[in-house]
Amino acid sequence: MRTIVAGLIGSVVLAAGGAASAQQLRPDQQAFREIYEELVETNTALSGSCTEAAAKIGARLKAAGFPDADVHLVIEPSYPKEGSIVAHLKGSDPKAQPILLLGHLDVVEARREDWTRDPYTLIEENGYFYGRGVADMKAMDAVWIDTLIRIKQSGKTPRRTLKMALTCGEETAEAFNGADWLVNNRPELIQAEFGLNEGGGGRLSADGKKQLLGIGVGEKTAQSYLLTVTNPGGHSSRPMPDNAIYRLAEGLLKIRAHIFPVRFTETTKVGFELRARQGDPVGQALAKLMADPTDAAAEQAAAADPNVNAILHTNCVATRLDAGHASNALPQRATAIVNCRIFPGETVEGTRETLVKVVADPQVKIETIPPVRPVATSPPLDPKIIGPMRTLAAKHFPGVPMLPSMLAGATDGRYFGPVKMPIYGVPGVFGDPDGNGVHGLNERLRVSSVYEGRDYLFELVNVYANAK
Ligand SMILES: [Zn+2]
Repeated sequence: MRTIVAGLIGSVVLAAGGAASAQQLRPDQQAFREIYEELVETNTALSGSCTEAAAKIGARLKAAGFPDADVHLVIEPSYPKEGSIVAHLKGSDPKAQPILLLGHLDVVEARREDWTRDPYTLIEENGYFYGRGVADMKAMDAVWIDTLIRIKQSGKTPRRTLKMALTCGEETAEAFNGADWLVNNRPELIQAEFGLNEGGGGRLSADGKKQLLGIGVGEKTAQSYLLTVTNPGGHSSRPMPDNAIYRLAEGLLKIRAHIFPVRFTETTKVGFELRARQGDPVGQALAKLMADPTDAAAEQAAAADPNVNAILHTNCVATRLDAGHASNALPQRATAIVNCRIFPGETVEGTRETLVKVVADPQVKIETIPPVRPVATSPPLDPKIIGPMRTLAAKHFPGVPMLPSMLAGATDGRYFGPVKMPIYGVPGVFGDPDGNGVHGLNERLRVSSVYEGRDYLFELVNVYANAK
């Protein structure tokens, strides 16, 4: 995923800056563009191969002087096309903690017949790059690769070790997930004090003005549950009081009425305080709720804004329904899927237990639908990490406000919850308000956003890499 940050604060922020005009590429930008092009032009959807992209990156890193021992093409034999690449750039201080640059190589499927241009050719047109993955997230993948190569070739060894992990399977819930696999099977390859990932960014106005920079700090975790009611059924001419459809429907209505306890993280409080200052009914309710999280009336008023509701607590909602086998028969089976977005720090099983309690009907069986993914933790707003993001933003994007926000969606960051490694979504690459065709048709990203974001991120990584 790639989230356009902070729908939360709406139009409160003032526009600043503007889109850069087309310019001649510097030699370093030309080298970066080749990496970006190679990534976009390698199909890494389920119909393609992450392994192929990983191998190309590995070859590129070795050609740039990385020793074989520091470039790891990681392939789980049962998933030959879903390989990852991990590379290490050794730091000068063996006692300093490493930093992880994280990204996913895979993309959502794209069909040539549906797109205006070939999705697997990097096309530059009207100030945009077009192609599947140009925004989600091959621009950032290319920035990480290019950053390692530039630092290596500069001959200046950074103080801390930089680790890069570009993995497969982020976009497909049922697929093999390389980040999850590395955390569980090769933790030494990715161990770091903290990681930088997608999930932050920047928001442009429709006419290309820079409005807001976002830092992704924490995320919710999606988990689906299956509700099943079975019944002996019978002929519909002889209805019985006990009916699987009614029983399931009553259970679902109880879930609709249930509101999970209000929770705050350090990050959501920052956004809510800003939202409260707007002084509208939702803002006023948020102010009350921050003073008393058990204020049910305030919760109801605040939750009227879907962007607020999405990050106020765990949410569970019915998303699918299936019942009966004939129009003239009493239903023998009724099932529903309830999709939950679990707040950081809560658990998949705890959420299931809450649903069981809320439905309070032993005939409604509630099961967790695999795969069960770890629930993310909420990283701290650590000044060591947030500070350089802000300082460099003032230099690269003067006057553009920056806001940390918790994602209602999910990234590979959640897999680092169990090992307590904080993962931050970096600011720097600005997206359009229309969502840039991410996961959809004609995915695009402004050319200026890519090069400006790259300059910002290169400096940011260098600051972290040399920090005490
Ligand atoms: Zn993504």
